[in-house]
Amino acid sequence: MNFNELNLKSKIIKNIKRAGYVSPTPIQAEAIPIVMEGRVVMGLAQTGTGKTAAFALPILDRLLREEGSRARAKGIRALVVAPTRELAEQIHQSFATLGAGTRLRSVSIFGGVGINPQIQALRSADIVVACPGRLLDHVQRRTVDLSKVEVLVLDEADQMFDMGFLPDIRRIIAQLPAAGRQTLLFSATMPGQIRKLADDILTRPVRVKVQRE
Ligand code: AMP
Repeated sequence: MNFNELNLKSKIIKNIKRAGYVSPTPIQAEAIPIVMEGRVVMGLAQTGTGKTAAFALPILDRLLREEGSRARAKGIRALVVAPTRELAEQIHQSFATLGAGTRLRSVSIFGGVGINPQIQALRSADIVVACPGRLLDHVQRRTVDLSKVEVLVLDEADQMFDMGFLPDIRRIIAQLPAAGRQTLLFSATMPGQIRKLADDILTRPVRVKVQRE
């Protein structure tokens, strides 16, 4: 399969080539068309499989198409929740690289650093990549508005569970619009608690399973 067959916006294809990606990885080939259809996805995939671009590319494509159909779509429309600051920063960088040259803005939100620059960056963000604790801080301070989120990604859900973040995840989800939201859940393993979470928050998910190459 070729990236050109995925019907992604030409600007995104250009950024994919610039990033040096030649062809989609198995999870990208499988998940991107499904996510582009707006379906709910439960992905069983580890880091290193290309799963970040598997969700970042269709999200960027969707938001770009919306930008085209409105004067200026405003607000946070995509939220990615990840367990660690390293992962959040990495995902944010992927959005920045694959969305370069567009008006879409991504911001990474995690603890251990000053909150004020984050408050500033959140004001013009379209995409937020966040660790649960600091995101809830922003929710409590009312410095983040999650009422416009259309796509939610829970990345490395099993690791978030191991780190005790599941109650935080549920608190975050309670802040999001329920109607019409597209949710994508990725996990390397599927322990009972993650299965339960998936049953609670995913409506008729498409299952995508990819082993590490
Ligand atoms: P991830 O599993 O999302 O952490 O990605 C693992 C690494 O593979 C990252 O360094 C990506 O930049 C890279 N990558 C993702 N997709 C592709 C692709 N289609 N071709 C080559 N490298 C890729």
